[in-house]
Amino acid sequence: MRVTVSVIKADIGGVGGHTQPSAETLAVVRERVTHERGRLLIDAFVCNTGDDIAIIMSHVKGTDNPDIHQLAWEAFLSATDKAKAQGLYGAGQDLLKEAFSGNVRGLGPGSAEIELDERPSEALMVLLGDKCGPGAFNLPLYLAFADPMYSPGLMLSEGLHDGFTFHIMDMDHIEGDRVIVLDAPERLYDIAALLRDTNRYAVEAIWSRQYASEQAVAVGTTRLRNIAGRYVGKDDPPAVVRVQKIFPATEEFGPAFAVGPFVGGDTRGSHNLPLMPVPMNTTASTFFCVPMVSALGFSMHEGKFTGPVDLFADPFWSRVRERTVEKAIEMRRQGFFEPAMLPMSELEYGGIVSRLSRLDAQWTIRSNGARAHDVSPSEVEAVVHGDDPD
Ligand code: MG
Repeated sequence: MRVTVSVIKADIGGVGGHTQPSAETLAVVRERVTHERGRLLIDAFVCNTGDDIAIIMSHVKGTDNPDIHQLAWEAFLSATDKAKAQGLYGAGQDLLKEAFSGNVRGLGPGSAEIELDERPSEALMVLLGDKCGPGAFNLPLYLAFADPMYSPGLMLSEGLHDGFTFHIMDMDHIEGDRVIVLDAPERLYDIAALLRDTNRYAVEAIWSRQYASEQAVAVGTTRLRNIAGRYVGKDDPPAVVRVQKIFPATEEFGPAFAVGPFVGGDTRGSHNLPLMPVPMNTTASTFFCVPMVSALGFSMHEGKFTGPVDLFADPFWSRVRERTVEKAIEMRRQGFFEPAMLPMSELEYGGIVSRLSRLDAQWTIRSNGARAHDVSPSEVEAVVHGDDPD
């Protein structure tokens, strides 16, 4: 059976700041979406990660389907009305355009979709990031799909022997999608050279090489600032990841996420902090909005979900979170100082630009190496050998 899994998520307002959606806004989305079960949708699940509401849907309409995207858009619009009525902070924050135009991409919400021929035991993982950019998944996905140190299945399972193809998006390119397609392991160093720059490049998709029609991963790669032309909140990527058999096993992603790599995001979307694996429905942290990711495991049969299993909720992860907390506290000790704060290239859409431009008039350019406070040799003599006037 050919099924599409669509994950569409948006921040439409938080309680007391950028924390979590209200129970009422979640209920509006849940009601709107579950109403379509057995109609437009086969199945649906709604949850939150930090202040984002995620809609996870299965259907037979394919990717980029206007009806599916419109359903999510309208659910978020209705929830925004509720958010405004409740005075929630940042109500409608991620709905950047007035009118729906067939697809949520380019309008604000993040989306990740995979169309697949359902396997007899179709196992899926949905990743939901908050307070981070689309590149936040680069390292875990690289480790799980290209590094046998983390993903022994690349050696041990014949279905994985040929490796995977990475589709990588240049998120700084605004006119159309600039994408490069590279095979692992042959192009491993090229892939690494791109994915290291999580603010510019993001994994958009990963495909099996041995089974060329099988897509393993889809990641939402929207950059909100490129839509709005200013900082309007971090991008907070969703991803759909197929697991087991011809793909890495669910548990092979664990050590990759336990690294807690430093990624851009956090407070004002302007800092680097470690990506913390958290349980589903976790409130964004008042510790500087540390970047977070939750992982939901689903089984699917004829498009119907069983689950989710909350993959970062078992006891092991509390220790991982403690380590991530230590990394975060250590980084925050140096405040605004790079790399705790992002480089200027990432701040150019924020208020620091006007601050620096106001300083422009106060800069002077020295001529021929002369210094503004040059002292004559006799003045130096007076300072070094003269009487102390006091
Ligand atoms: Mg968010």
